[in-house]
Formats: sequence, C-alpha cells, structure tokens
Amino acid sequence: MAARRRNRLRACAECDLVVEMPVLRPGERASCPRCQHPLQHRQKTPLQNTAAICVAALIMLLASLPFQFAHFELPGSAGQMAVLDAVGGLMRVDQALLALVVVLTIVVLPAVYLLAVAYLHIGLLLGLPLWKGRVLLRLLRRLEPWMMADVFLVATLVSLIKMSDDADVGMGLSFWAFCAYALLLLKTTIDINYDHLWLKLEGEAQAPFGARPGTSARSQQLQACRSCGQLVYRPGLAGNSCPRCSGHLPALRASSTQVSWALLLTAVMLYIPANTLPIMETTKFGNSIAANIMGGVIIMWEDGSIPVALVIFIASIVVPLFKMLVLGWLCLLAGQRVQMGQLWRYRLYRLIEFVGRWSMVDVFVVAILVAMVQQGTKLSVLPGPAALAFCSVVVVTMLATRAFDPKLIWHADEMKQEVSP
Ligand SMILES: [Zn+2]
Ligand SMILES: [Zn+2]
Repeated sequence: MAARRRNRLRACAECDLVVEMPVLRPGERASCPRCQHPLQHRQKTPLQNTAAICVAALIMLLASLPFQFAHFELPGSAGQMAVLDAVGGLMRVDQALLALVVVLTIVVLPAVYLLAVAYLHIGLLLGLPLWKGRVLLRLLRRLEPWMMADVFLVATLVSLIKMSDDADVGMGLSFWAFCAYALLLLKTTIDINYDHLWLKLEGEAQAPFGARPGTSARSQQLQACRSCGQLVYRPGLAGNSCPRCSGHLPALRASSTQVSWALLLTAVMLYIPANTLPIMETTKFGNSIAANIMGGVIIMWEDGSIPVALVIFIASIVVPLFKMLVLGWLCLLAGQRVQMGQLWRYRLYRLIEFVGRWSMVDVFVVAILVAMVQQGTKLSVLPGPAALAFCSVVVVTMLATRAFDPKLIWHADEMKQEVSP
C-alpha cells in the first residue's frame, strides 16, 4: 500500500471500523460510516482559533472569581455570594469532600485544561519546544467529562428561581463573566482538533503495512490508540503502549466489564441513601424542613415551580436510574453473541455518557443555596447526608460508563470466541 494512503487510515475509537479518511476542506467533518462517531474535522486556522477562544475563556474565568455572583434580599435578611463561596460555604458546614468536588469541577480542572490548551497551541504556533507536550495532550481528553461549568450555570438558575418565591434575587458582574467562561470553555472543547495537534507534535500517523479499510481493526490484529489515533499492529492483542504518543493501549477483553459491574453495584448501593436520606435542610422563620430529593421535587411542584421541579426530577432521579439500567444491560450483552440492535445500543451508550454529568445539578444547587444563605435565624440552609451520597452516585456512574469499552458492542462474535475457546 502506498505511503500516501497509509497515513489516511484511522480506526473509529468507538466501533473499531478501519476507515480511509477523505481529504477534508476547511469547515468539513468526517464521521464513521458505521456508528456516526465524529472522526475528524478541518478548520482554516485550527491553532489560532482555539488559542484565541481558550485565552478568552481563561480571562473570563479570572473575571468570574472576584466579584459578586448572585444575591438575594427579603425583609430583614439578605445574602450574596462570589463563585468560590459555593466552596467556602460547604467547608463551613463540614462538607469538605463535597467542597472538593465542586472546586475541582467548576474551577480547578477547567483551569488546568485551559492552561494546557493555551500552552500547547501557543507553543506550536511559535514553534517552541514543548516540555511534556505528549503528556499534556493525552491528559486533555481525560479532563473533558469532569469540567462542569455549564452544569453549575444551570444549577445557579435553578437556585435563583427556587429562591425567587420568597426573596428578590439578582445576578452580579461575576455571573455574566461566568456565563462567558462556561460558553467559551464549551467552544474550546468542541473546536480543539486532536488529530491536528498530534500531527504537529509527532508527525503523521502511519498505519502498519497491510492495514485495510472496511473491517474492524481487531480482525486485522490492529488496535487504534485512543489518544493519538495511531493504528498499532498487536499480534495476540496483549496490553502495550502506543509507539507514537506512549499512551497505554489496554487489551480489549469481555472481562473488562468487571470494572463497570463493580462500579455499577457501588452506585446502586449509594443510590439508596442518596434518595431516602434528606439532601437539604431548610429553615424558614423557625420552621425546619428536611427533604429528600423526591420530597424536594414534590414541594417545588406544589409551590408552583413546575419547570424547576421537572429539571430536578429528570436530572436527579430519572437520569441516574436510566444510566444504571442501560449500563447494566450493555454489560450483560457485552461478550454475548448478540448482534441485534448494535447501533441502538451504541446510541444509548453515547446518551448515558452525555447526560451523566448533568445529574450534578442538584449537588451544585445545594452548594449555591448554602453559600447564598448565611446561616441566620430567619432563613438557613444546610446540606443533608444524602448530598455526599448523591454526588458519589454521579461520580461513580460516570466512572462506570467510562470503564465500559463501547467496542464490546461491536465485537460480539470475537468476544464470545475468546471467552469460551
Ligand atoms: Zn465507528
Ligand atoms: Zn498514541
């Protein structure tokens, strides 16, 4: 095969089909013909665009920290918060683990991500030698699901609507900077062109001689690196590392679902206290109400806040349950000789991967309300024991989903042969 064609071969990271990439014009995108997973996109000036957006996101992140984020006022009581008060408030009420999750997901991990993106893009644009460039580039994809500025923004709106029944609420300067930061962060994750970055950093990926498009990489004893896309010849398909980016190439085995099963069972066990114990204790004019998630939804529904009740019901009850059921079903069928509905199973997998982080809305709502309402006699909000359990359900189900390799959906026959030779 001509060298010209070997550098155009890629295997889809999700379904493992080897595809010969077409030559794309700026603005065009290529997706996998079997599972429709996006494979490559081409921009006119990929490095400049992403560098500009990413630096703007960093500036907006800095601008969102020092000023007032939101405030409320009711006769005889008032309160306000800055973004980091959502962390400080939880620390004050001895919820250090929750505070850690909040600060990591809304500020620290996005800041690390944006700094790494800025460093790599500006370094490549200026032609500078990049210290630890490979390591940082491999890290970026891993960070993406754990950045939740957009979820925090939705939680802020939910909290303000919740409070607007009793108090006058408003947003401060930092809120608008945070909106811009969340949108620019999202735009950075959409625009970042990993294929182009690896090309600039390590040169072109060359598929091994004899690799051919149209069949799975696995059937040709090949494996695609999840970090850089390089196709690697792996006779015996034992564990190995990628020669181009040094990323780990885990062996694909049906038994790999054991990690997903273990995490899934942990999530199921945590789901029980998360839904039965109170998630938040609110005291209004001497009346204390400790409500669990469903209780909170019913109270909001009866108060007439139907859209907020629906958001919390879907994000906190429906989504985690749906995720656990779907993942359990996918794990059950992985390694079985079931080829029916492969595309639908894969779409369900992508859906639970996408919606997983949105369940954090309720955790952020608790953090925001605790920060806004300084503990006083008229109004006080405290997190209940379910808050940490619920946060753990979200994190553990996300880990369980990521531990599941979607290639298992497409390799039903080969997996079965390996499990029972
Ligand atoms: Zn595919
Ligand atoms: Zn690689």
